[in-house]
Amino acid sequence: MDIHSVLLTEEELKIRDEAREFVKSIPPELIKKMDKEEIEFPYEFVQKAGERNLLGLRFPRKWGGREASWRCEVAVIEEVGVLGTALSCQYCLPTIVGEAISKFGTEEQKEKFLKPTLEGKKVCAEALTEPRGGSDFFGCTTVAKKDGDGYLLTGAKRFIVGGKGADYFLVYARTAPEAESHKSISVFIVEQERGVKVETVYGLLGTRGGGTARISFHNLWVPKENLVGEENAGAIIFNQMMLPERLTTAAGAVGMGRTAIEIAARYSIKRKAFGRPIRKFQAVSFKIADSLAKLDAARGLVYTAARVIDAGLPARRIVSEAKKFATEACWEAVNNAMQIMGGIGYTDIYPVERFLRDTRLSMIWTGTNEIMSALIQHEYYQELEEDLKKVRDVEKDAINADLEEEKVYE
Ligand SMILES: Cc1cc2nc3c(=O)[nH]c(=O)nc-3n(C[C@H](O)[C@H](O)[C@H](O)COP(=O)(O)OP(=O)(O)OC[C@H]3O[C@@H](n4cnc5c(N)ncnc54)[C@H](O)[C@@H]3O)c2cc1C
Repeated sequence: MDIHSVLLTEEELKIRDEAREFVKSIPPELIKKMDKEEIEFPYEFVQKAGERNLLGLRFPRKWGGREASWRCEVAVIEEVGVLGTALSCQYCLPTIVGEAISKFGTEEQKEKFLKPTLEGKKVCAEALTEPRGGSDFFGCTTVAKKDGDGYLLTGAKRFIVGGKGADYFLVYARTAPEAESHKSISVFIVEQERGVKVETVYGLLGTRGGGTARISFHNLWVPKENLVGEENAGAIIFNQMMLPERLTTAAGAVGMGRTAIEIAARYSIKRKAFGRPIRKFQAVSFKIADSLAKLDAARGLVYTAARVIDAGLPARRIVSEAKKFATEACWEAVNNAMQIMGGIGYTDIYPVERFLRDTRLSMIWTGTNEIMSALIQHEYYQELEEDLKKVRDVEKDAINADLEEEKVYE
């Protein structure tokens, strides 16, 4: 059964199918060469996605989007997820960086950056993480000092996908060092050609071929036209951007886990041990069942989060839950797929070992899963008292609920 047929409209299903065709058209050679680090950056992938009008689907048509819903976008990203994190990251960056430009940028910025990005003609990257830490984002030490009609940028950013390869970076930098951290960071569009220095291109366990690098800025001049939103409004832009940042990771993870299980299930039909197909052993088939149940639950969370954003409701908790749960479900599914396949699963004869390397990252990037837990509980405690006013007071249903003297808290 195509579960998406009950989750998407006819129009959305068509776009999902277009994405499937696009994914089918990607040559295996590209994936292999990226994994072998024979390709530094997959420009042609981004160009092709742009030519097919598949980038940044939910943005206004004026800038090259299709005004699609988030639901549609997560369905498409699930499809792209089967290519692995290196390519799905490239697919998702325009939707992440685009969120900031589309929601907070000027018309000129949209014309100059968002439009060519969605056309696949300009490659974008996001530069948040610093060598001193990614989780403590608001501890940002990159600074931007006013200088005539612009700013002088100094600092470094680490683990930037497209650090080598991108045409421009969305950079967070401190513009009011003496102010409290949530009111002191601004966002800039920094074009590579202004003098962004590539310091180290990292050797990675997986997710290779995307130019992941440490980049630095040394008194790099950025015109004030490249400031996104208000000065010192970085916190608002960051919070908005983290929705696509994390929901895209979650949706991609569902696709990757799904495809790993498909490979393992097909293998389990053909592979025999003790004279029987291994799928006949519960130890094998139950791993398929457990993985499917978790991946379907993950998809449910991803879609719910998408609908919450589409409805314009606060989405931080549900998006964080989706990111944490889907990446852990994917990790478990890929690990199970490898176990089902035995020794051959550990080799590069099948792509499951690449998925295992890829999926490990999704629990770390776009905010670690520990940070997701921190956000989930924080949001929950904020909502708790308000929510309890609307529902039955179940505490009163205990037989001795009225023994108030037994309810001791300190
Ligand atoms: C391949 C790759 C690509 C990436 N791409 C990009 C990119 O394009 N752009 C970008 O800006 N960043 C990117 N990142 C950075 C990524 O988002 C960070 O690595 C991640 O946010 C964690 O930051 P950190 O590595 O500095 O770890 P740290 O922040 O040093 O965390 C280390 C450990 O401490 C834990 N920890 C820290 N604080 C807390 C807390 N308050 N509560 C509980 N646990 C905590 C973390 O969960 C983690 O386990 C990428 C990373 C990698 C590896």
